[in-house]
Amino acid sequence: MSIRRLPNHLVDRIAAGEVVERPASVVKELVENSLDAQAKRIEVRLSGAAGRQLQVLDDGFGMTPADMRLAIERHATSKLDSDDLLAIHSFGFRGEALPAIASVSRFRLESRPDGAQSGWGLMLDGGELVFDGPAGLPPGTRVTVDDLFARVPARAKFLKSARTEVQAVADVVRRLAMAHPGVGFRLLVDDRRVIDVPAEAAAGVAGLADRVRRLLPGGADTVAVDFQRADLVIGGLAGLPAASRSTAQQQYLFVNGRPVRDRQLVGALRGAYAGRLPAGRHALAALFVELPVQDVDVNVHPAKAEVRFREPARIRGSLITAVREALAAAGVQPVAAASLSLAEALQRQAATESGPAAPAAAQAPLPAVALSPQVVPQQPQQGHFHAAEPMADWTPDWAVQGRPADAPLLAPPAPAPAPAPGGEYPLGLARGQVANTYIVAETADALVLVDQHAAHERLVLEAMRGRAGDRPLAQALLVPVDVTLDAMACDQIDAARELLAELGLELERFGPDSMLVRSVPAALGQPDLTALLRDIADDLAETERPDSLTDALEHLAATLA
Ligand code: ADP
Ligand code: MG
Repeated sequence: MSIRRLPNHLVDRIAAGEVVERPASVVKELVENSLDAQAKRIEVRLSGAAGRQLQVLDDGFGMTPADMRLAIERHATSKLDSDDLLAIHSFGFRGEALPAIASVSRFRLESRPDGAQSGWGLMLDGGELVFDGPAGLPPGTRVTVDDLFARVPARAKFLKSARTEVQAVADVVRRLAMAHPGVGFRLLVDDRRVIDVPAEAAAGVAGLADRVRRLLPGGADTVAVDFQRADLVIGGLAGLPAASRSTAQQQYLFVNGRPVRDRQLVGALRGAYAGRLPAGRHALAALFVELPVQDVDVNVHPAKAEVRFREPARIRGSLITAVREALAAAGVQPVAAASLSLAEALQRQAATESGPAAPAAAQAPLPAVALSPQVVPQQPQQGHFHAAEPMADWTPDWAVQGRPADAPLLAPPAPAPAPAPGGEYPLGLARGQVANTYIVAETADALVLVDQHAAHERLVLEAMRGRAGDRPLAQALLVPVDVTLDAMACDQIDAARELLAELGLELERFGPDSMLVRSVPAALGQPDLTALLRDIADDLAETERPDSLTDALEHLAATLA
């Protein structure tokens, strides 16, 4: 066997395998090039099945015809002026994106530098130059990619449905747009505006916050993160627990302005919310980590989604502190801290009762107990929660309302000293509520913590499942409610309409970015429809599997719950 050099077009295709996985990765490379060219407006257009045709236009500084010919050659880049791979300030630097993309598509590169009278264009087919001549366009650059992967059937086979690919492109554009508030971004899918944000007027952190709010669904329910230690800065927005989502899709992390999906950072974010979110919920967040370029290696992953930090533990710890400080400032307490104050309050109360000389400050009242009689079944069964009939709203305070007529599993809070907890209530005597989340109860020989949120979910789920095979009771809304979401979310939901109707959620499309809700599953009472539809859209985006209808139903039932 003899050794031979691989021909260039083959090398490009191999590189394409690393850089160009799907339309979204092509869009990422092209938009990053536009950003590197100091564009102030970037427009991405998608058309054709699965985004096989895409175009990126910018108003950046453009290229001369000679530069363009170089640009389509492998390892040609204008962006590495020293040999120091660690000191990378621009997005590109490998000089392989354009030739790699061109090698697996029909590719057109058109550009007109600032001040030039006219533009120039190159066309390549499967990497072969087929046209080199004048082109008409405004100052800037336009890249058109057609028939992506048409010549690489093995790769084309891996593409997901059109909707999933479009979703992935939107995600890439949204992430890049978040990191670049000074640049206007637009994403058109078959001429429909999916993203359209003008350049933000405010500079610096304020601009970032404005941009993120514009792009984050539910961006209002967030607190500002503003953290600085020596040369490390962490800023952005962190979602309040109430704005949590059913998937981690709405977590946007950036390192030195680059969108990353770094496992360490995602883990740190989860850590920051530990004890502050119910299990299975994910925080909404857009966080920007800024540190000296020497302290982070972005060259680890070809698509540059993962990074390597010189001091990972410090970054992780700082991110947790940054988010926790922001949440604490907004009054979000972890369960442990809240139960500490409960314990203190109890101690003070005990002190007040035993001695007459208790200081005034010790008169702190017991934390409010808010147990809902409605979550408790009419006939207690086997000592665990069981589905009740259609859920009514949560109602406040036994203390106010008096003891419910029906026999609850949990006894209402009793004044200390407690009567002997009896077998009457399998979950014991309710002692209080902690962190708005846990009900603390006492049985003869145990302390019981009930996660109120999880218990409620469980009840709703069982109420829905209880009608196995049957359609869950739909409760028609007197006046259909119009819910505004983004167009992508509407697409996801629209496509799953029949599935949702089977669960009692009947809706219809009402314009490009809103849905009209006609009925809701009766078991849900009066849910927050916007939050509900958003969660469902997130779920559908993550587990789009039209073949597993039953799975989806079960999964949706859980989400609805
Ligand atoms: P890299 O970005 O890693 O340098 P690319 O293959 O993506 O490699 O691009 C090659 C070169 O083409 C870039 O270094 C840049 O000089 C030029 N280029 C690419 N896209 C644009 C654009 N939109 N505007 C101006 N110049 C561009
Ligand atoms: Mg590039």
